Amino acid sequence: MRLDVLTIFPEYLAPLNVSLVGKACARGVLDVRVSDLREWTYDRHNTVDDTPYGGGPGMVMKPDPWGEALDTVLADGYEAGAHTPALVVPTPSGRPFTQELAVELSERPWLIFAPARYEGIDRRVMDEYATRMPVYEVSIGDYVLAGGEAPVLVITEAVARLLPGVLGNAESHRDDSFAPGAMADLLEGPVYTKPPVWRGRAIPSMLTSGHHGKIARWRRDEALARTAEMRPDLIERCDPAGFDKKDRETLSILGWAPEPGGRFWRRPSVVEE
Ligand code: SAM
Repeated sequence: MRLDVLTIFPEYLAPLNVSLVGKACARGVLDVRVSDLREWTYDRHNTVDDTPYGGGPGMVMKPDPWGEALDTVLADGYEAGAHTPALVVPTPSGRPFTQELAVELSERPWLIFAPARYEGIDRRVMDEYATRMPVYEVSIGDYVLAGGEAPVLVITEAVARLLPGVLGNAESHRDDSFAPGAMADLLEGPVYTKPPVWRGRAIPSMLTSGHHGKIARWRRDEALARTAEMRPDLIERCDPAGFDKKDRETLSILGWAPEPGGRFWRRPSVVEE
């Protein structure tokens, strides 16, 4: 997969050389290229921003440097054999970044990231490139950062660990929170390693029972309990057809009951406690 990042802070992307993403680059699974947006400015101060039309506080990133930078990166990529690019623009006003979207992006051969600073990029840039390629405007959460570089690191790491050959054990992301499949929409429960007793705290005995079926059931109950506690909204959204008899029993013990339509809601007595 080829990844291009256009930024006014190339040094901010140094962590892409480290750990999992760094190893993916070293192995040739990822081809990361970071470019300084200011290379496409021609005034003495390398200006990339200007005042907003209509007034208001803050500055807006000018379309010219972005347009020239994107055209150059696109031409270079096509020449190097890359194809079907997608533009990823981090913005708090974008669609939420989810595991589902990470999977979708991991299936694309070429991502070009456009992290902004100031109040964001002149709208016409996204509109222009949307006529040539998919444009993903993505938010990593309901808060506002100073720039899009940290979101690029977040998105890249989530995408890179899904690429074949990046994780040592290809099964590692199968049981992750939000992973598609049987545990979809449930958070992962607690995990343990050696020693069996640490500071007087023993691991749950079930995990050393050797009974794979019972361990899987225990993990599912723990995932249900964790999700009910941390993200009740996920249980409320779950398709009840995905719950088996034991799931329903566990949810009932946790204080949840099905409404007439089948979806589960926390019983009011539990909410009040
Ligand atoms: N005025 C913008 C708004 O309210 O939508 C916020 C601009 S923010 C100060 C500057 C840049 O940081 C954004 O253009 C985006 O690239 C990045 N950014 C900030 N928060 C983000 C978030 N939650 N998700 C993705 N990108 C974010």
